[in-house]
Parts: sequence; structure tokens; C-alpha cells
Amino acid sequence: MKSSEVLNDLKRRFPNEPEYLQAVEEVLTTIEDAYNEHPEFERYNLIERLCIPDRIFTFRVSWIDDKGRVQNNMGYRVQHNNAIGPYKGGIRFHSSVNLSILKFLAFEQTFKNSLTTLAMGGGKGGSDFNPKGKSDMEIMRFCQAFVAELWRHIGPHTDVPAGDIGVGGREVGYMFGMYKKMAREHTGTFTGKGLEFGGSLVRPEATGYGNVYFLLNMLATRGIDIKGKTVAISGSGNVATYTADKLLQLGAKVVTMSDSNGTIYVPEGITREQLDYIFKLKNIYRGRIREFAEEYGCEYFEGGRPWGVKCDIAMPSATQNELDGDDARTLLDNGCFAVSEGANMPSTPEAVHRFIEARILYAPGKAANAGGVSVSGLEMAQNSQKLSWSAEEVDMKLKGIMANIHEQCMRYGKQADGYVNYVKGANVAGFMKVANAMMAQGVL
Ligand code: NDP
Repeated sequence: MKSSEVLNDLKRRFPNEPEYLQAVEEVLTTIEDAYNEHPEFERYNLIERLCIPDRIFTFRVSWIDDKGRVQNNMGYRVQHNNAIGPYKGGIRFHSSVNLSILKFLAFEQTFKNSLTTLAMGGGKGGSDFNPKGKSDMEIMRFCQAFVAELWRHIGPHTDVPAGDIGVGGREVGYMFGMYKKMAREHTGTFTGKGLEFGGSLVRPEATGYGNVYFLLNMLATRGIDIKGKTVAISGSGNVATYTADKLLQLGAKVVTMSDSNGTIYVPEGITREQLDYIFKLKNIYRGRIREFAEEYGCEYFEGGRPWGVKCDIAMPSATQNELDGDDARTLLDNGCFAVSEGANMPSTPEAVHRFIEARILYAPGKAANAGGVSVSGLEMAQNSQKLSWSAEEVDMKLKGIMANIHEQCMRYGKQADGYVNYVKGANVAGFMKVANAMMAQGVL
């Protein structure tokens, strides 16, 4: 089938999965030329096989809350593609989780993991469990109930989950503990583990730092220095805080951060002390970003997103479709010349179109946020060797991987007029490796 036929067919078969169809459409429209150069791909119906996950597990998760009531949530694991390595991708706990969102994330993950040059296939999982306001014991009981079902589908050579929205070091620790008990083995089946039991140095920082490293590579193509530049960040979780941390180290000015309730605006730039406060607020007290505004007396946009403020660079780091066409226009009108995505698919198709049309530096999440899964891959390598590498070593490897991803994007995305279309570059580079591996392994 031709790629356009595959897309129409998927739209007919999965009409209620808008995020999944959005991610597939973005990839298929950019890889068409590369695909057409290989008639054998069509004979093997490769595109359709690449778009539909290998398998999906769906299960009920029953757990007991602090009041003794039995609660039921849905649990999922999407094993998308393992042509180049074991399934690999995070677990998301958020009330909005459904199959459309997990299928889009697993699809994206397959291309992203291919770009990292490490041997990892793509997968994603999660639950509609809402961790907000839950006690530590409730989180533990939920994680254990989730893994009581998931454990039989995962393993160090089969499928290696990690964190994502709502799943950080605490949740990975509880899930790994339960996995270890059920499987009776101590292997690297989860990544993002604590340092005491197989975790890698720099894994918590990796997605945010990696995004900044990718940004530096993009800025270098235009001879722009990050120092003194004004950056708007969304989110205040793992990715957002470590993005801000690296930007502060490099002398940039971070003027916004947010959560699902609102945005703080600090025109003179968030200080190191203020960032430490946000880190504690979010990770220890599990509070709201509004409390930062109350503490420091800065502007707070209730229910608002960061994209209306004046900035040079935008780094969306919260969730999918959080930056739409109107936001993109406002950013461009305000002089924004670079967007590097920490979140997965944070910009809507209209926004992406506007950025590319305006010829600004625009890096899609599957390239710019690949640092997290890259260091997860390095964690798997350390676990296999039963060794742990120094922070300097891991950070150096992370920088090398991000530079390599940038190079691949340039190779496949440079247009005749010299503009680099990073969306096309990332999609084609990610696709070719998976496609070649699938062709070599036959129809499975
Ligand atoms: P966290 O749970 O640590 O933080 C998520 C942040 O985004 C919070 O500030 C949260 O606010 C906000 N947020 C979540 N959902 C929404 C929403 N619907 N609307 C507005 N704000 C929202 O997650 P991460 O930092 O790990 O993940 C952020 C993004 O980065 C996700 O897209 C994830 O897929 C992607 N990513 C993460 C990687 C990782 O290593 N962790 C790797 C690669 C990509 P609130 O507290 O109010 O919910």
C-alpha cells in the first residue's frame, strides 16, 4: 500500500484515536520521498506494519486506597516495534491516559529510539490513575498492583519500561521492587532506577540536558550564543526543571515555568535559588506552581500557558498539543527564533507548519528529547556489565549522542535553500534504520 492509503485506512479503522493519527500523519507525510525510492517496502507492506503496534496489553488494576476502598484503574502496555532492540519506553500515570495517547507515544518512541543509535525498539505504557493528592502508601500500592499484571510481559531482553508524566524515581523504585519480587531476578528491567540499585548517574537530568545540548547544536548552525538569551519553558516536572537547570548553568534567562493550573512569569529570569525552590516544591512537597508566585510575588497567569511572553527561545516541556497555531503566531510575532521540544508532540500540526514556514530553528521532540531514553540505554548497558560509569562519562556520551542525532537530522533534512527541516530529517533517519531492520527480518 502507498503511505497515503495506509493513513486513510488507519483513519477508518481507528477513528477515535486522534493523537495516534496525528503522530502517524506527521511521519508519513515527511518520509514519502524516501519510501518511494524503495519499491520493495511497498511489496512488503512495510508502512502498515510499522504503524500498527506489534501488540497491546490492556488490564484492570485494582488497589486499595487509604480509606480502605477498592479502586479500579485501567493499565496498558503498547509494544510497538522491536526490530532494532527490546521494546523500550516510559510509563505514564495521568487521568487523561488512553490508548490513543499511548499508541502515539509508542509510535514516536520507535523513531526516537532508532535515532539514538542504541539497540532499542519502541513501546509505551501507563494508566489513567491520577497520582495527584495520593499518599505515598497509595502510590506504592498502585505501582505494585500495576506491576502484578505487567511483569509477565516485560524483561531485560523483552521490554524495558521507564518513567514519563506522573512517574519519576519514586514510582520506578516501587515498580522495580515488585517486578524483582515477581520475576525473582535483579536485572535492568526498568530504567530510571535509584543509584543504589542499578540506576545511572545523569538519568534524571538526561532529557532536559539533552534538549539543551540539541538546542546548542541548532544554534551553532546560525552562529548564535545561548548566553543571555530569554527562554520560555512550560511544565515544572522532570524535563522542565533540568532544562532550566542547564540553561542557568549556561547563562540563559528562564522567564516562565508552568503546571496544568497556570504559568509563572519572571521577566528578569528565574534565579538558582528560585529553581531550587521549584524543584523542592514539585518533588518533595508535591505542590502547585502558583505557590512559587505567592512566595516570590511574581506574575501568575491562572489557567494560562507561557507562549504569550516575549522570548528568544521556547522549550515546551509539559505535554502533547500544548502549543497551538495561535501560540506559534504569537511566539513568532514576539521574535522567537528557536523552538526545541522537551515534551512529546507538544506543538499542534498548525504550529509546526508556522514554525517551518517562518524558517526558524524548530526541533521536534523525537529528536530533541531523545536524551532521556539515550541515557536509559546507557543504564541498560551498565546493568548488563554490572558496572556504573561516572557522571562525566555519561554526560559526555549524552552530548555525543545528541550531536549525532543533530547530524542525522541535517543529513536527511537539509533543503535546497539550506534550511534544515528537522522534522523531515528526524523522521527519515529514524524510519530508514527501522525499515531496513524489518526488511532483513522478514514478514513477522
Ligand atoms: P512530569 O510528570 O515530571 O511533569 C509534567 C509537567 O507537565 C508537570 O508540570 C505537569 O503539571 C505538566 N502537565 C502534565 N500534563 C499536563 C496537561 N495536560 N496540561 C498542562 N500541563 C501538564 O513529566 P516529565 O517531565 O517526565 O514529562 C514531560 C513531557 O516530556 C511529557 O510529554 C513526556 O512524554 C516527555 N518526555 C519525558 C521524558 C522523561 O525522561 N521523563 C523523556 C522524553 C520525553 P501538573 O503537575 O499540574 O500535572
